[in-house]
Amino acid sequence: MRDFSQNHDWLSINTATIRKQHGAEVPLDRLIDQCAAHGVRAISPWRDQVAAVGLERIDRQLRAHGIGLSGYCRGGFFPAPDAAGLKVALDDNRRAIDEAKTLGAPCVVLVVGGLPGALDGKAHYRDLGRARGEVHDGIAASLEYAREVGMPLAIEPLHPMQAADRACINTLEHALDLCDELDPQKTGMLGVALDIYHVWWDPKLQQQIARAGRERLLAYHVCDWLTPTRDLLNDRGMMGDGVVELRKVRGWVEDAGFAGYSEVEIFSALDWWKRSGEETLATCIERHRSAV
Ligand code: ZN
Repeated sequence: MRDFSQNHDWLSINTATIRKQHGAEVPLDRLIDQCAAHGVRAISPWRDQVAAVGLERIDRQLRAHGIGLSGYCRGGFFPAPDAAGLKVALDDNRRAIDEAKTLGAPCVVLVVGGLPGALDGKAHYRDLGRARGEVHDGIAASLEYAREVGMPLAIEPLHPMQAADRACINTLEHALDLCDELDPQKTGMLGVALDIYHVWWDPKLQQQIARAGRERLLAYHVCDWLTPTRDLLNDRGMMGDGVVELRKVRGWVEDAGFAGYSEVEIFSALDWWKRSGEETLATCIERHRSAV
């Protein structure tokens, strides 16, 4: 297992972690400068943050700083109420793949979607099986294009509490079953983004990480599970502040062959988004060394 205690070479910052500082949204170019000032070698930016500043400008800035990507957030949201909606989703995923290619990302993270409309409070239908079928077909279609341009897709299984509104793939086993179905040759073009917040509770976690192996483990997201959790989406904890055995799980992931970044992804409206970016980044670095 790699020793993280001496440096933060393998720390990546998911830019959602610092997107709000003192409660206010901060543009991505400023976040990148802050990461560079803290010696962070990799980030995972969100599409809306990139679009707000401009793709070319972000690309130039990353190159100037020598900062790489550990992933690109995000594609997915495949289910839709009708054929036109399904096509809109596919086109959007194609654009996400193109943007990831421009930025040199190692993968596009897929939050696959749940019941269409549920995120806005009004589901167009309630058939979760249908949504899963549309996710299957959407990933299959996107994978064709991803193969053409050489951009791996990483399915992120989400905690079942988010099955209705964000992702109807809810365990690592479920995600890997889909990978095996759509990419039986394990070409490296389809795998998983393992986010500790979503999977830490899973009794099959160790077994399924071993099953995933190097070919399928495309990204590793860390934070912590707080007790009590006050908000199901935006109360993620800083590593070391919750109940997840982070080092144990990283051991399993590395035993399976993963040797990439530990990407810190913390949505924290109630705590870290109220603080300064400097404090949050310094704490991420310290906890990366001591707790991850
Ligand atoms: Zn994640």
